[in-house]
Amino acid sequence: MSAVLEAEGLQTYYGKSHILHGVSLTVGEGELVALLGRNGAGKTTTMRSIMGLTVPREGRVKLFGRDTTGKPPYRVANLGVGYVPEGRKIFGHLTVHENLLVPPQTKGPWTIETVYRLFPRLDERRTSKGGRLSGGEQEMLSIARALLLNPKFLILDEPSQGLAPVIVQEVMRTVGRMKSEGMSILLVEQNAFLALELADRAYVLSDGEVVYDGAAATLADDRARMEQLAGVS
Ligand code: ATP
Repeated sequence: MSAVLEAEGLQTYYGKSHILHGVSLTVGEGELVALLGRNGAGKTTTMRSIMGLTVPREGRVKLFGRDTTGKPPYRVANLGVGYVPEGRKIFGHLTVHENLLVPPQTKGPWTIETVYRLFPRLDERRTSKGGRLSGGEQEMLSIARALLLNPKFLILDEPSQGLAPVIVQEVMRTVGRMKSEGMSILLVEQNAFLALELADRAYVLSDGEVVYDGAAATLADDRARMEQLAGVS
């Protein structure tokens, strides 16, 4: 399997605060990899380091075999990396449809019509203003917008955050469908058990270090270990 992401030995700081202490992770083509860990473990910092939003002081990032360490985020995105940050940054004053018209048209399987098929709820709410959508609908809209850029690799930061359990299930089902369409995905989640149900492999971060790297199923089957590593029960 060829790798879409190879991050090696990332050492990332915010000013003098040393946050990542040698994080290494890979995502293979077509793989769904979960990145788990308690609050403050360094998950967002890892994603920011991959995207070039915070440049690691040491270590390398390779995307699709190319060294992107220190490259600005737009160069990383142009290689085919989609990033859905935490917090659903959609345009509240635009309708759902207008929000979907914002990304430039790109070649690939994802068009406005195919994303409406993936998210029938957004199709029903085409003319609703973004600001009037529920949290789950806003999350779907952020993911839909990222898909329209036809990324080959998608990084999702806590898509389930703040959502009601049934909506979380729906968002996760959609993530599963994107994987079955061949997308490579790095999924950062607090909701560890749900993420592990979907993922092929998982990493757990603790204090900026990888403390688990292996099959998702192995971790999902070992509840005690999960509690110890990721603080979930
Ligand atoms: P969460 O689930 O709470 O988002 P996380 O695992 O994504 O947690 P990070 O956001 O990467 O963790 O944060 C890792 C550490 O870096 C935390 O101790 C946090 O306080 C610190 N941190 C995050 N952003 C900054 C910043 N801009 N300046 C200084 N410290 C920061």
